[in-house]
Amino acid sequence: MGQSLMRYISTRGGMDPVTFRDAVIIGQAPDGGLLLPEVLPDLSSDLEGWRELAFEDLAFEVLRVFADDIDDAVLRKILKDAFETFASEDTIPLVQVNGLNVLELFHGPTLAFKDVALQVLGGLFEHIWGGQSASLNILGATSGDTGSAAIASVRGRPNIDIFVLFPDGRTSLMQELQMTTVLDDNVHCLGIEGTFDDCQGLMKNIFSDLAFKEEYRLGAVNSVNWARVVTQVVYYIYAALRFNEPVSFSVPTGNFGNVFAGYLARSMGAPIDRLVLATNENDILARFFETGVYARGVVQHTLSPSMDIQVASNFERFLYLYFNRDSERLVEFLKTFSEQGSAKVDYVDSVDPLFLATSVGEKETVETIKSTYAAYDYVLDPHSAVGVAAASRFELTSPVISLATAHPAKFPDAVNEAIGKDVATHPKLERLISQATRKRVLAADEKLVKNYLAENAR
Ligand SMILES: *Cc1c(COP(=O)(O)O)cnc(C)c1O
Repeated sequence: MGQSLMRYISTRGGMDPVTFRDAVIIGQAPDGGLLLPEVLPDLSSDLEGWRELAFEDLAFEVLRVFADDIDDAVLRKILKDAFETFASEDTIPLVQVNGLNVLELFHGPTLAFKDVALQVLGGLFEHIWGGQSASLNILGATSGDTGSAAIASVRGRPNIDIFVLFPDGRTSLMQELQMTTVLDDNVHCLGIEGTFDDCQGLMKNIFSDLAFKEEYRLGAVNSVNWARVVTQVVYYIYAALRFNEPVSFSVPTGNFGNVFAGYLARSMGAPIDRLVLATNENDILARFFETGVYARGVVQHTLSPSMDIQVASNFERFLYLYFNRDSERLVEFLKTFSEQGSAKVDYVDSVDPLFLATSVGEKETVETIKSTYAAYDYVLDPHSAVGVAAASRFELTSPVISLATAHPAKFPDAVNEAIGKDVATHPKLERLISQATRKRVLAADEKLVKNYLAENAR
């Protein structure tokens, strides 16, 4: 019956292949692995024909290769609705000032790059889950940005409820308001009396109770969802096609989600020279690419909190490909890492010459915000500044595009202090201060959270 559909398998090798629709709904494989296409397509012969496409049209061409069990007209509508929420006409404008190239990914509803993929994921959830009589209940944990972007992606959608766990009183005020001012009935903000680790631990425990997960139809929005990764691939292709030679990207990263999308784009044929992998002081990834040793450290709190991560969930996908799709080797590596806090790969010079990895400290982040403003009259947020600082350390012969992952107004204290005046503002955020809010505060107790879910799941 026609051509066969793309099959998605688990990095850990313990799952029968599924199609795109199932891959989106299950998020993570039942064996604990992450999903990837059985074979990555080669897009290189399509690229020239895509050069003139607007971002939304390119997204359609790229996504239909992967979402091949979704009707073309439906996919177009999902993408149109998703990117209509962006405040820029170009969706993700490439800003060029005297040789500084910044790809602004932060014009979505919550002013961070996560909107690009999550707006699409929300539409996919609604479409795929559409015919069901019971609600899909999305459960997520956030230290700040993911929660609001996930809420913005599903608010008001029929048949979907979202429950977000955040550490009460430990996010920034703006981050909390971006979640709690959303008053739609299907949005549930749970302030947990504890840390982000407590929230994440609660979420993991609840997901691992498979009977509960099934009874309450729990879905996940975290960055391991394949639909998020593949949507992010699009902007690498889009930006690379704005140039007539191979380009490099500088990517501020924490969970290895964003930079992994760049790696995939290049694997599928995009003209990418190098990927600068920029971490803040939480440098586990930078150390890995320098030494081949993946060793857990202690989480440092920095000016770029959305990258304060030690164990990068998406890294498993890279390792699987690096091990030539040998699940046994991957599982062995992960076991060693979980038992000993460190694991090592054999390497010759570096793990993959595509990556240039480096860690940027707090002082240099602030200096970069300041010097970029002075030299280019351009305001970077602290995450994007980590990327710009990292890129400046390497003598690249190709044009470098720095990914800007958040609007500076999301992190006004650090930005205004670096520049010495109040430049980091956004009317959307200022309006939040006077709006009504709703949240429920709960102790960090799995039973209490499960009871709340059970009572409120539809
Ligand atoms: C989430 C986030 C990042 C890190 O993205 P990863 O996919 O985890 O690498 C960087 N910057 C901002 C502003 C973010 O919200």
